[in-house]
Order: sequence, then structure tokens, then C-alpha cells
Amino acid sequence: MNVLLLGSGGREHALAWKLAQSPSMGQFYAAPGNPGIAEHADLVEGIPLSAHDTLVAFCRDHGIDFVVIGPEAPLVAGLVDRLDAAGIPAFGPTAAAARLEGSKLFTKELCRANGIPTAAFARFSDADAAYRYVKEQGAPIVVKADGLMAGKGVVVALTVEEATDAIAQVFAGGGAEVLIEEFMEGEEASLFALVDGETVVPFGSAQDHKRAYDGDLGPNTGGMGAYSPAPVLTPELEARAIAEILVPTAKAMVAAGTPYRGVLYAGLMLTAQGPKLVEYNCRFGDPECQVLMPRYAGDLLEVLHATATGRLAAATPSWFPLSAMTVVYASRGYPGPHQTGSVIGGLEAAGSAEGVLVFQAGTRLKGANLVSNGGRVLNVTGSGRTLAEARERAYGAIAKIDWPEGFFRKDIGWRVLGRPA
Ligand code: AMP
Repeated sequence: MNVLLLGSGGREHALAWKLAQSPSMGQFYAAPGNPGIAEHADLVEGIPLSAHDTLVAFCRDHGIDFVVIGPEAPLVAGLVDRLDAAGIPAFGPTAAAARLEGSKLFTKELCRANGIPTAAFARFSDADAAYRYVKEQGAPIVVKADGLMAGKGVVVALTVEEATDAIAQVFAGGGAEVLIEEFMEGEEASLFALVDGETVVPFGSAQDHKRAYDGDLGPNTGGMGAYSPAPVLTPELEARAIAEILVPTAKAMVAAGTPYRGVLYAGLMLTAQGPKLVEYNCRFGDPECQVLMPRYAGDLLEVLHATATGRLAAATPSWFPLSAMTVVYASRGYPGPHQTGSVIGGLEAAGSAEGVLVFQAGTRLKGANLVSNGGRVLNVTGSGRTLAEARERAYGAIAKIDWPEGFFRKDIGWRVLGRPA
């Protein structure tokens, strides 16, 4: 099978590493990719992921049998619809199905209509009505803008004033509507499932670390580390989340004539009343994917293709009895302004240790050197029989990397393993 993988982050490097192991892999291309992905696939240069016609033409010219899409933007923009129309199977939902991530309002209404557990909510197109509502409800309360905001459209307001400011900002920023949610209390976990219309197959759990600095301090980021599985999501809670949240969602999407196909990533709050949906994403998490892939024992290409082509019911995903942890090595200053172009050394020593994989994100080659090329640069990933062993391996490997311009959190996994001494 000739495959085109789209994306250029650590998530896509992890997917490339695993896809390349499939006995069914033919020619393997990636666009735009990165130097880590280039170890597994031929990089296609010069086609932006928004150039859908050019991507379809590339697929035709190169006999591509299957397209795997990493990031959400091309999904929300309808790339899968274009590929479908061209008869090219792709892993990922259509634009209509990707609304589960692209529109928070769409998902909240779907939950309300189908009795899916999530925070109670109200929506307002008028700022004054929204102000009155938060005054009545009191804090803590959550204010959200609709649309793809890359995690930036959410304010968990601890006071009514904070909520009022957040509402004002949504409208000042050109938002037409604001979503106000009940504050849910509990621990968060991510649950992944492959979904092919009505078939929902659990595909691993994880917990991430959104804040930039140790102790969950500092600004929100795309994610500074993750581990899998998430012990807090016990088999009982996972089964409840599948039965009460993901299966009814898949059924509702089929009933609406917009079946979901791809990976459905549920952000869950584990409340005293059970798991509740915080949000859906329509792709693998980054960096969560980097801890799922080392644990996956099956043929990734086969199971993703089965998902895309409606044959998931016959698939049986299998997992190694391993835990995995990834630590993100980011440019100093991230998620704020940061420099790029600094030389990264020691990757070979780091990546050759037992149970260690280094997935690249914002990197590029400059002559013979690997240099930084973004905010999140490396994902140093350890696997082991226990999470403690996975952590030891990840941090042992990161110590071998020579990159003074980078920083990383030293407390990934603290919820399970405690804070480092
Ligand atoms: P979202 O982009 O919807 O995932 O929200 C980002 C983060 O805000 C989540 O990961 C939660 O930590 C927090 N959050 C969102 N909605 C709620 C809620 N209703 N109650 C408590 N925390 C929330």
C-alpha cells in the first residue's frame, strides 16, 4: 500500500515510525514532514496542507492508496471530503464529522440531544445577557469561544469578574456567540477510540501536562509531556466512558447522516458522578500519540486502513504490556517568543538507549546539524514495564541531549508517581 502521511510534528513522527513497521507498507511519503519523519518516509516538499487540489494531484501521480492525516486543520477544512470524491481512502473524519472538534457548540448540542454526560451549558449571542447569567450562576464558571482555537478559547474563571472579562474578550475578538459552562470538578484523562461509523474500538488512554513549567505553573501550551495508560481511567471508568459517551456520539453522527470515521479523542473529566465529556478532538493528541505508538503491538497501517474503509468490526487492536512517558523538550521561551536555529546534539546517544525513542517535532537540518525550528522540538519517550521505569528511561535519555537553548518539565507523571525530589 502506498501511503501519504500529512503533518510535521512529534505526533506524525510517532505515526511514521509505527506505520513504517507494517508489512503492507509500499512507498511511504510524508508532507511536509521533518528530519525525524524523513528516516521513515520520502518527504514531499512545497505542498501546504491547505492546498487540497495539489495534494489530490500528488496522490494520483504517485499511486497513493491511503492518506493518513495527523493534524486537525485539514480535517475541519474538508480534505477527507476531497480525497473521498477522488476515490482515495483517508484516515480522518469528513468536515461534517470533524465539527465534533471544530465547533464546541455543535458538540454541546449533540450531547444535550442525546443525554451524553457533559457540563451543563448556556449560549449567548448578546454580551449583556451573558453577564447577567454569570452573575446569577456565580463562579467558578467556564467561558468558551466557538471554533478551532488551539486550546486558547477557554477560560476557567474563578471569579465573576474574570468571567465577565472573558465574555467581553470573546465579543471584542469578533466572536458571534459565547458558551458558558458549569465548572466540572475532577481529574482529567484522555481516551482514544477508533470509530468507523457505529463501531467504536478503544485505542488507549493518556494524561497530558498543559502548563509550561513544573508544578503545573506558567502558561498553557500544546502539551509538555504525557504518559499512557492513564491509571486513573480504570477499566470500569473506561467502559462507562465508551458506553455513555463515545458510543452514543458515534450513533448520533450516523443518525445525522454524517458518520464519524477516524480516531475520536475524548477529553474526559472524571467527576464524582462518573466520566463527563470536556471536549472532543478529531485526531490523535500531540504529545499523547507519542506514548500510544510505542505501546501498540498490532499493525498500525492495517487498523487505520480498516477504520477508514469501514472494516473496523473485524479488527482486534493489541497492546504491549508497557507504560510509556514522553517529555517534551521545548525552546526556551515557549509558548511565548523563542529563538530557533540552535544546534541540538546527542540525539543518537539518547535514542539508542533501551526502551527509548526520540520523536522530532520542530527540527530541521542545517548542513550536517540538526537545529531547532519551532516551540516544541523533541519528544523524548521512554517505555517500560512500569510507569516509573518509563520515566527513568525518558529522563535518562534527555540527560544525554546537548541543547542549552531548550527546557523541559522535570515532573511529568507527578499525578501517578509523585513530585520528583
Ligand atoms: P477545552 O478546550 O474545552 O478542552 O478546555 C480546555 C481545558 O479547560 C480543559 O482541558 C479543562 O482543563 C478546562 N475545562 C474546560 N471546560 C471545563 C469545565 N466545564 N469544567 C472544568 N474545567 C473545564
